Amino acid sequence: MESMQQYIEQAAELVSTAERIIVFTGAGVSTESGIPDFRGPDGIWRKYDPEDFTIDKFLSDSKVRKMHWDFLTTGGLNLTQAQPNPAHYAVAELEKMGKLYGVVTQNVDGLHQKAGVSENMVFQLHGDLSHAKCLSCTKRYPMEEIIEWMKKDIDEPKCGECSGMLKPDAVFFGEQLPWGVLMESEKRSRSCDLCIVLGSSLVVYPAALIPRYAHQGGAKLIIINMGPTELDRMADIRIDAKAGEVTPKIIEMAKAKMRAR
Ligand code: NAD
Ligand code: ZN
Repeated sequence: MESMQQYIEQAAELVSTAERIIVFTGAGVSTESGIPDFRGPDGIWRKYDPEDFTIDKFLSDSKVRKMHWDFLTTGGLNLTQAQPNPAHYAVAELEKMGKLYGVVTQNVDGLHQKAGVSENMVFQLHGDLSHAKCLSCTKRYPMEEIIEWMKKDIDEPKCGECSGMLKPDAVFFGEQLPWGVLMESEKRSRSCDLCIVLGSSLVVYPAALIPRYAHQGGAKLIIINMGPTELDRMADIRIDAKAGEVTPKIIEMAKAKMRAR
C-alpha cells in the first residue's frame, strides 16, 4: 500500500509531463466552497426528493416550482455568494502553465470561471445557475435579479417581457444536455493525454463518459474523490481525499519538477 505522499508525487509526475489536460469535475469539487453535493453525507438528496428535479414535475406542478425558487434564493443552493476554493484555483493554475485543454464540469456554480479559468475553456454539461430563462421568449435574467424579486414575497417569478414561465438555466433530469458543449467535451477528452477527475462519483450519464473517452483515447487517468467512484478500476492514480487539500499540492509539486528539468 502506497502512502498519500507517494500518490501525490506520482500524480505530480503525470501533470508535469502532460501537454493536454482535461479536468472533469463534479459537485465534490465545490463542497469546500460550502455548496452541498447530491450524494455525499450532507448531500441534497438527504433533504429533497430527486423526483422533484425532473423537467416534467417543474413544468406541471406549481408547488414544485415554488420549492425550486425557494431552494435557489433562500434555501440550500443560493450560489451567488459562493467563492472558489483551493481546488478551483489549482485548476486555474493549469491554464497558466499552458497545460489545460478544458474543464468539463457537471457543476452549475460557475466557480471555475470565478477562479480565473477562461470562459472558453469551461464546458458546462449541465448548464449553469447564474441565469434563469423565459420558456416562451428565451429572455435570460441574472439570478441576482430574480433573488431580489423573490424577496418581495412573490410565489413564482414571471418574464417581465411576456409573462412567460421562467426556469433556472441548468439542465434538469429529463432534459437534453447542450449538444455543442457535449460534442466539444467528447472531442477534447478523446484527444487529451491526461484526465483528472475531481469530486465526482461518476454515476451520472452521459457526463461520466468523459473520463471513459479519455481512457479509451490512451490518456492517463487520475481520480481524486472522497469515497468510491464507478471508474476506480480504470484509474492510474486513485486518491481518496479532499480535492481542495490534495490538488494544490499536486500542482505545486508538478511546477517544482518542471523548474528542475
Ligand atoms: P455527486 O454528488 O454524485 O458526487 C460527488 C462526489 O464528491 C461524492 O462521491 C462525494 O463523496 C465526493 N466529495 C464530496 N466532497 C468532496 C471533496 N471535498 N473532495 C473530494 N471529493 C468530495 O455529484 P456529481 O457526480 O457531480 O453528480 C451529480 C450532479 O450534481 C451533477 O449532475 C451536477 O450537475 C449536480 N450538482 C452540482 C452542484 C454544483 O454546481 N456545485 C451541486 C450539487 C449537485
Ligand atoms: Zn418571456
